Amino acid sequence: MNYPKYFREQLEQLREEGNYRVFADLERQCGAFPSAFSHAETGPEKVTVWCSNDYLGMGQNPNVLAAMHRAIDNCGAGAGGTRNISGTTHEHVLLERELADLHGKEAALLFTSGYVSNWAALGTLASRIPGITVLSDELNHASMIEGIRHSRCQKRIWKHNDLEDLEKQLLDLPANAPKLIAFESVYSMDGDIAPIAEICDLADRYGAMTYLDEVHAVGLYGPRGGGIAEREGLMERLTVIEGTLGKAFGVVGGYIAASYDLVDFIRSFASGFIFTTALPPAVAAGAAASICHLKQSDKERYLHQQRVREVRDRLDALGIPHTKNPSHIIPVMVGDPVKCRFISDVLMRDYGIYIQPINYPTVPKGTERLRITPSPVHSPEDVDRLVSALGDLWTQCQLARKPIAAQ
Ligand code: PLP
Repeated sequence: MNYPKYFREQLEQLREEGNYRVFADLERQCGAFPSAFSHAETGPEKVTVWCSNDYLGMGQNPNVLAAMHRAIDNCGAGAGGTRNISGTTHEHVLLERELADLHGKEAALLFTSGYVSNWAALGTLASRIPGITVLSDELNHASMIEGIRHSRCQKRIWKHNDLEDLEKQLLDLPANAPKLIAFESVYSMDGDIAPIAEICDLADRYGAMTYLDEVHAVGLYGPRGGGIAEREGLMERLTVIEGTLGKAFGVVGGYIAASYDLVDFIRSFASGFIFTTALPPAVAAGAAASICHLKQSDKERYLHQQRVREVRDRLDALGIPHTKNPSHIIPVMVGDPVKCRFISDVLMRDYGIYIQPINYPTVPKGTERLRITPSPVHSPEDVDRLVSALGDLWTQCQLARKPIAAQ
């Protein structure tokens, strides 16, 4: 095989489809979020970031930064080992306690990312429980899909957020067979929210465990930032709650929270937990400070929701179509990968606004979009500039607008 030719052709195909990924080379400006410098070919240019998952700006929160600085000064740079072999520092232990408390569970376990936590926890549960069937929502994140696939367990894919289909599939399985329902609370691309209580009802009726990914909800919802399950008083009904430290908490890392025995089981059997170096203590300290802050402070959540409402109202006033949903994610649908990339490029080049185009395979072909994530660190002037730039571009590209009554 001509390997170099193969790689070139595959990449060429991606380019032709408009799905080739180009990363913005950014330098975030701590203390001035959402501002960043974009290292363009023509030299650094100041841009406003409108697509970050640092939803609350906690990546520049003074408490978080102070905790990280302190931990670096006290413990040095890295953890120095896997959790099993010298890498469990006190910062990890404290963070796991903080996480268990956040979700009202007996224990929590850290991983190097949310992706790894899903892959390792689902993969371990599904491969180690004899005869288990995993029932997975069809729009679950790649990390959940990969974990389930890796386990080689029996699986059933149920229609997105469709309780009838889930029940039909549960009915189809032997009553005594072990089952695990895996789903998310806030779906990250459409921003819709799962009917968690009803899924728990089905789980109870059919003897299934539940695994809830709250990656796009932790820090953001619930009186202490425990996520949608906390907001709805459902945390104790879920077998496993999974989350990330890399989005609303502003740092990096992932975790599960569950019963002591389940967590101990994953700790003891998950290769994605056992055979990798622990997160740096400073990361654990920063994450703990972030969680601790958001448990006590509602200000960030309040401003976040307010900013989201403002952006939606302003887009509506201009007839710029965006998908309605009950969360903080604003998907502005374009429906074409080339146009999506073009709009994103012009926003960056002419308006200093950075919104990464979301193309296949992150979303299905034909549903390409700009995914806007307003945050408390966006000012009213930032909102003015964003909305006015989108208005210009919708005219320039002759994109369809929605009459206000039809929104
Ligand atoms: N779960 C969902 C639903 C996600 O959207 C993501 C990442 O974007 C992850 C898990 C992975 O989390 P992390 O970015 O911490 O690896």
